[in-house]
Amino acid sequence: MAIYNPKSLKAEEFINHDEILETLQYAEANKHNVELIDALLEKARPKKTETGCVCSGLTHREASVLLACDIPEKVEKIYEIAEEIKLAFYGNRIVIFAPLYLSNYCVNGCVYCPYHLKNKTIPRKKLTPEEVKAEVIALQDMGHKRLAIEAGEDPVNNPIEYILECIKTIYSIHHKNGAIRRVNVNIAATTVENYRKLKEAGIGTYILFQETYHKENYLALHPTGPKHDYDYHTEAMDRAMEGGIDDVGLGVLFGLDRYKYEFAGLMMHAEHLEAVHGVGPHTISVPRVKRADDINPDDFGNSIDDETFAKITACIRLAVPYTGIIISTRESEEVRSKLLRLGVSQVSGASRTSVGGYTQEERPHDTEQFDVSDQRTLDEVVRWLMDNGHIPSFCTACYREGRTGDRFMSLCKTGQILNCCHPNALMTLSEYLEDYASPETKERGYEVIAEELNRIPKEKVRQIAEQNIDWIRGSDRRDFRF
Ligand code: SAM
Repeated sequence: MAIYNPKSLKAEEFINHDEILETLQYAEANKHNVELIDALLEKARPKKTETGCVCSGLTHREASVLLACDIPEKVEKIYEIAEEIKLAFYGNRIVIFAPLYLSNYCVNGCVYCPYHLKNKTIPRKKLTPEEVKAEVIALQDMGHKRLAIEAGEDPVNNPIEYILECIKTIYSIHHKNGAIRRVNVNIAATTVENYRKLKEAGIGTYILFQETYHKENYLALHPTGPKHDYDYHTEAMDRAMEGGIDDVGLGVLFGLDRYKYEFAGLMMHAEHLEAVHGVGPHTISVPRVKRADDINPDDFGNSIDDETFAKITACIRLAVPYTGIIISTRESEEVRSKLLRLGVSQVSGASRTSVGGYTQEERPHDTEQFDVSDQRTLDEVVRWLMDNGHIPSFCTACYREGRTGDRFMSLCKTGQILNCCHPNALMTLSEYLEDYASPETKERGYEVIAEELNRIPKEKVRQIAEQNIDWIRGSDRRDFRF
C-alpha cells in the first residue's frame, strides 16, 4: 500500500488516495467546528510585515475543512479573506491572455473532449506556418500580447518539433506596434528532454490540467492513448521542473469527479511542488466541463453549481495565496464577475477555441474544443474590467526579466507589486488604449491610469511610469517595463 509522502516523486505517494479519503473524513467531521474554522480563517488572513505582507496559506486538510463548511457567515468570511489576499498580493490588476489552438489532431480517447480519436464528425486541422502567422496577426490586431498555445496529442501530426516551430513563428511576428511577448504552452505530458526544448524556446508557463486526481476514474475517462498513463501524466510537472521550466500551471477539469476529492488532490499537488522544488504552482486553472461536439457535461454526473464553483475558487485563494488563478471564457460574464472578486488574477478574452478561429469572420463551431460562454470582444472585456474596478494588464515583464519561479514569489511576498507590476500594468494598458481601443474605452482607460498612477508608492517609479506613458501616447515607442 502506498504511503502518503509529499516529497516523493511517485504519483501514488504524493497524490495519495488514502490521504485524500482521510482528508475528506476530517473535513466532514469538522465542517461545523466553529473554533477550528475561525482559527483557520485567522491563519489564512494576510499579515502586514515591515517589508510588505505575508500569508501562510493552508494545508490541504485545513483548506478542505473550509470547503466543506456550509455555515453562511463563515462562507462569507472565506470570500472576504479571498478578496483581501487578492488585493494584498496581486492588487487590482487582471492579466489578459488568449488561447491559440494549433492542431486538433489527437490520438487520445479522453471521453470529455471532442478531439478524441474516435470522433469522426469534426474536421481535423493543423495550422501551417502561414496560418499561424495569420492567426497571430489577428490576435495582435485585437491587442493581445500573451498567448496560451493548445494542441491535441499526436506524435505524428503534432510532434514537439511542430510545437517548437510554431513558438518560433509566433515570437517572430511584429505587426504594426504589436508583438506576442509571452507564449504559455498547454500540451500533453512529455519527456524531460522535450521540456528542456520548450524552455529553450522561451516559453512562459507550462500548463497541464490533471483533469481528475481520482486514479480509477482517470483510467476510465482516458481509456486509450498515451494519456491513459495516470502516473506519467501526474508526474509531468516534476519532469517539467527537471527540464528547467520553473513556472508550471495546474488545473482540474471540474465536473469529472467529486469536487471535494479533486480539491484535496489539487492542493496536495501544489504542496508536493513546493516540497520538492521549493516553489509552488505559478498558476491554477479552474475549468468546468462544457458542452462540445459529441460531449454532454451531464454524462459525467459531477457538475457543480456556480455557488460551489465560487467557494472552490475562494478556498484555492486562501490555501495558495501566491499562485495566480485563471478563469477562461468557458464561464459567463456573470460568473467571471463574481470570481474576479474572489481571487482570480488572469482571464482570457475574445477567445476562439477552434483551430484557425481567429482569422474567420464568424465564430466557427466545427473544430471548437468547447462552447465559449463569454463571447465579448477584447475591447468589451477591457472596458468591463475597468468598470468593475480592475486594471486590465497586458504585462509580460516578469519572465522576460528572469523573475520566474521563486523570484516571482519573492516579489509578491515583499509587497513590491505596487512598485513593479502595477506600473507595468498601467504602461501596457496605455499601449492597448493607443493601438487598439475604441474611443470610449480609450477615454475610460486614461481616467483609470490617471487615478492609478497616484497609487505607486515610490516617487521615482511613478515619475518613470508617467514619462513612459507620455512616450507611448506621443510616439511609437513601446515595451517599457520595470
Ligand atoms: N492535449 C493536451 C492535454 O491533453 O493535456 C492539452 C490541451 S487540451 C487542448 C486543453 C484542456 O481542455 C484539457 O486539458 C481539458 O481539461 C480541457 N477540455 C477538454 N474538453 C473539454 C470540455 N468539453 N469542456 C471544457 N474543457 C475541456
